[in-house]
Amino acid sequence: MRRIYLDHAASTPLDPRVFEAMRPYLLEHFGNPSSVHATGRKARFAVEESREHVASLLGAEPGEIIFTSGGTEANNAALLGTDGGILTSAAEHESVLRPSESARERGRRVRILKPGPTGAVSAKAVERYLDEDIALVSIMHANNEVGTLSPIDEIVGVSRRRRVLVHCDAVQTAGYGMIRADEVDVDLMTVSGHKFYGPKGIGALFVRGGAAFRPLLAGGAQERGRRGGTENVPAIVGFARALELALIEGDDRRRHAETLRDRLVTGLREAVGGQVRIVTPLGEAAVAPHIVSVVVPPVDGRPVDGEMLLLNMDMEGVQVSAGSACTSGAFEPSHVLTALGLDAEAASAAMRFSVGKGTTAEDVDETIDACRRVLHRMIRATQ
Ligand code: PLP
Repeated sequence: MRRIYLDHAASTPLDPRVFEAMRPYLLEHFGNPSSVHATGRKARFAVEESREHVASLLGAEPGEIIFTSGGTEANNAALLGTDGGILTSAAEHESVLRPSESARERGRRVRILKPGPTGAVSAKAVERYLDEDIALVSIMHANNEVGTLSPIDEIVGVSRRRRVLVHCDAVQTAGYGMIRADEVDVDLMTVSGHKFYGPKGIGALFVRGGAAFRPLLAGGAQERGRRGGTENVPAIVGFARALELALIEGDDRRRHAETLRDRLVTGLREAVGGQVRIVTPLGEAAVAPHIVSVVVPPVDGRPVDGEMLLLNMDMEGVQVSAGSACTSGAFEPSHVLTALGLDAEAASAAMRFSVGKGTTAEDVDETIDACRRVLHRMIRATQ
């Protein structure tokens, strides 16, 4: 069966050009960058060259880039590596919300604001929540479930006046060249390789020079003492190459994604408009190019089974994800959708479609057809 992959916000396939860049560091140049001999120096050179590259692509200095094991670690490091109170939003990724909870347990003040109805966090809302105890604001650029963008530059503006640091989880948009540290002037920024056709298990945290920062992982002097552990050299090389390609091709990738996203939305409105609600605020707010979130509201008061919805789509060959996390077998309504004001029943039957550079118009059209069939079956079964 032909499989259609519309889950690029979860992960993307490795670009063969990235794999080629990584290959010598997987097979030949295996040395530990901390070793002083030639094999070690070769690896060290690759890491530092990649760092320079990543820094210039993100609008930073090389010393401001810390390689991490991905977005989750970078977010944890940003929140737990700084001091003082934290202000964040209820629609953030779990890798921001969970360390915020840990910070609270350790006695730090943590305030969690509700995003607006589109999912965006306004600078005004941030300003309202800032108090003397808040030292760090952490707001994502694009929400990974619904795609809404928040105005990070404006958030930096209001926070800067209060001498508060700003961290931005830019995992969903950095690969489209939509955010650079120098342009938005953030203090910390998270990026992850596997969201833009790089390898998994590699990311970076940008930490503006001078920002006080404690390592999350102690145990080695790597990354200038800010992240212990032998560097993942092939992944770092692949990450730098993937980011380079992402930015060279960023405009094309963005246009391609937007065209297909719009085709999907138009098609869904025509085919199943009466049965689904499109949550992504297209036309109402700034959004990422690749994400469309829909929910299937209850039918005659009876909720539609969200897990069955995804399984049915998968049986049709269309791979999408829920707006919800499957925790220990239970299908929980998404914290993002509930933060946007959806009730638990509507939020429990959600689908997030996310297109990528390999997605075609045919994929989109087949997805719309599959949706029509699945919803027809499921709504009949619910009635
Ligand atoms: N932040 C956002 C917005 C994400 O979408 C993700 C990935 O799902 C992460 C953080 C975590 O990144 P990683 O998978 O590299 O740990």
